[in-house]
Amino acid sequence: MANTVDVLTPEQSVAMRGRTKTLGYAAHSATSPLQPFSLERRDPGLHDVQIEIAYCGVCHSDLHTVRNEWENFMPTVFPAVPGHEIVGRVSKLGKEVRKFKEGDLAAVGCMVDSCRKCESCKAGLENYCEPGATYTYNSPDPHLGGVTYGGYSQRIVVDENYVLKVPTNLELAAVAPLLCAGITTYSPLRHWRVGKGQKVGVVGLGGLGHMGVKLAHAFGAEVTLFTTSPNKKDDARRLGAHHVIISKDQAEMEKHLRSFDFILDTVSAQHDINAYLMLLKRDGAMVLVGAPPTPLPVASFALIMARRSLAGSGIGGIPETQEMLDFCGEHRVTADIELIPIQKINEAYERLLRSDVKYRFVIDMASLK
Ligand code: NAP
Ligand code: ZN
Ligand code: ZN
Repeated sequence: MANTVDVLTPEQSVAMRGRTKTLGYAAHSATSPLQPFSLERRDPGLHDVQIEIAYCGVCHSDLHTVRNEWENFMPTVFPAVPGHEIVGRVSKLGKEVRKFKEGDLAAVGCMVDSCRKCESCKAGLENYCEPGATYTYNSPDPHLGGVTYGGYSQRIVVDENYVLKVPTNLELAAVAPLLCAGITTYSPLRHWRVGKGQKVGVVGLGGLGHMGVKLAHAFGAEVTLFTTSPNKKDDARRLGAHHVIISKDQAEMEKHLRSFDFILDTVSAQHDINAYLMLLKRDGAMVLVGAPPTPLPVASFALIMARRSLAGSGIGGIPETQEMLDFCGEHRVTADIELIPIQKINEAYERLLRSDVKYRFVIDMASLK
């Protein structure tokens, strides 16, 4: 006979267990600053892990979401609690949890669940779940109703299948950005088999871009950073770029026509992608991970003339996220961070908009009281 809990809907199951209040930070509209907000977390079910959040990275997607800039693709439901680069310690466990014990380090990225049945889920590519994954924030919450609330909060409860193990040899605050910026750059670099003997370009030196530079370097590629910020040149070299090109310098750009195998574009705003397509060799590929709110025009000829490809890539599946964390543990790769108290979050957003972050803001959640 089926266990009673198996036949209950997630909502009924939570009704039997209860929920607890947690403090977070939320935006109440697309134009209001983030401010303290009391939210609820479900008490852990059989397969759930409750995590006390130590640090949460600040992704540009958080900003796009709270300002409802992706209105046409994923409209924001307010109040919105962003944050999907979460690390902390396990404080409570469901009876059936096998992967974790109390006190373990644990991490949560951009997803907290998915359908588990579609071709993508079965292939470990939950990020491409066909009915749509349950994202860590701004997704319908099957347990509590309303939408999911992210990591700008003290605590989160997540099914263990969507919780990652954290290497213990790395600085914890600098691990947080790996959960989005890390996997979002790791996954396409792996999928397109970037490595030794290849010329690789990374466009934009922000949160994603600086991880792209570090990882492409770690995979053995010859890395060029394209930036609009001349003052980031020295940092780019320190982070692993072999060459730096100021993308506004047209003469410099033209020197590199038809020379790249692969270009990873991490830019968060409108820009000319054709200028980069022209830098690819025959059969080269450019992959967009940056997600500007408005469409980017593509010149057909930039693709046709050298059988070039233009593709996109979204975060990564759970198995690959674990693989990336293990790789980073082994190779001692972490993000370069600016640790901030949560009270500085609105200021941090303004700096993100000015491309003024070195190179990921991370919130010290101890500041949330
Ligand atoms: P970020 O830290 O703000 O970095 C973006 C960088 O893009 C800036 O540092 C800047 O680099 C460059 N840039 C900004 N405005 C520009 C403009 N108008 N023209 C040219 N370059 C410009 O952002 P992030 O957190 O890395 O996120 C980047 C983008 O990726 C966002 O759109 C985000 O939503 C998206 N994202 C996508 C995924 C996915 O799964 N595909 C996952 C996470 C984030 P320079 O100063 O070096 O020029
Ligand atoms: Zn993100
Ligand atoms: Zn699925």
